[in-house]
Amino acid sequence: MAKSPEEEHPHKAFGFAATDSSGVLSPFQFSRRENGPDDVTVQIQYCGVCHSDLHSVKNEWGFTRYPIVPGHEIVGIATKVGSNVKKFKVGDRVGVGVIVGSCEQCECCQQHLENYCPRVIFTYNSLDKDGTMTYGGYSDTVVVNQRFVLNIPENLPGDATAPLLCAGITVYSPMKYYGMTQSGKHLGVCGLGGLGHVAVKLGKAFGLRVTVISTSPKKEDEAINKLGADSFLVSTDAAKMKAAMGTMDFIIDTVSAVHPLYPLLTLLKVNGKLITVGLPNKPLELPMFPLVMGRKLVGGSDIGGTEETQEMLDFCGKHNITADIELIKMDEVNTAMERLAKSDVRYRFVIDVANSLSSCKM
Ligand code: NAP
Ligand code: ZN
Repeated sequence: MAKSPEEEHPHKAFGFAATDSSGVLSPFQFSRRENGPDDVTVQIQYCGVCHSDLHSVKNEWGFTRYPIVPGHEIVGIATKVGSNVKKFKVGDRVGVGVIVGSCEQCECCQQHLENYCPRVIFTYNSLDKDGTMTYGGYSDTVVVNQRFVLNIPENLPGDATAPLLCAGITVYSPMKYYGMTQSGKHLGVCGLGGLGHVAVKLGKAFGLRVTVISTSPKKEDEAINKLGADSFLVSTDAAKMKAAMGTMDFIIDTVSAVHPLYPLLTLLKVNGKLITVGLPNKPLELPMFPLVMGRKLVGGSDIGGTEETQEMLDFCGKHNITADIELIKMDEVNTAMERLAKSDVRYRFVIDVANSLSSCKM
């Protein structure tokens, strides 16, 4: 049974929580733990709104524990650091992503793949080491073990960098692991939302030819002229999909809902790879013929480890890559969630926490 952070911890905190599967977020008082010797206390400035937040507040995956304070794309300022913390000092601009803890001993942790640790602790909706529930970044502060705190490159703006902490690493990690970074190869990005639009930018930075595969024809102009994609395929346009068959080396599938894989598999060349990072709440059907006949591979990937997340942030700093965002106030978050559910966001909502949360206090 989880202990209640409202009673356990010494520091008052304030955020927005959903209390049932309606997913509606409202003001919520809770508390944060004392800053330990290995901890960094972060005053949150910005927090991105990931589709995983939406799946979670509505309990679409079936394991949400209410109340839930979502948010795992956090940028803020370090206001306290523990005595063992050498990498960060008070006043530094820092980031926190999807994970805030792991066992730090297993094979995965030793390889800096804390994201695959069987005892990984997520930034929200997880049991922390002290038995309390973790609460995420739709809140004023968070206390995080230094291993899970990231440096934000100086040249990048905080608001547009926040989404890199989840969306960015989620597409960067499989691109590296599955060898999708060879210049000149053809990458398909399926679903042009938060993850998808960062995948387009990273793909171009790696020198790939990038084609967006989308259900939204109205995103074509921006995809090509703003995000830098080379071409755009509407997945319902049978003639164009047919013409593009067998042309892609890799596809990153970021779709948040159940959708057919058959058309995607047919777009791949022989030996092509379809890497799925989207997490629909129901299983997808895997058609064997296009998979087997072309020696194709279907793989998955979950965010990334701390070391690779820092590498991704530094890469984005070097290539000046950030998310395209719509900056919102805290009390606009429910409207933003409704729009996110309809794929109506260009391309990530980010909450201006520092400038809009405190005025929501009752
Ligand atoms: P998002 O901003 O809502 O983007 C998802 C995109 O998928 C939409 O913009 C839309 O693009 C497309 N889409 C939505 N419904 C569709 C449908 N029924 N059929 C076909 N396409 C559809 O979401 P996100 O924040 O990028 O997250 C995407 C998914 O990845 C979510 O399931 C999320 O939970 C998951 N995720 C996984 C990880 C991981 O580590 N593996 C990390 C973060 C998020 P178009 O308008 O272009 O069609
Ligand atoms: Zn996320």
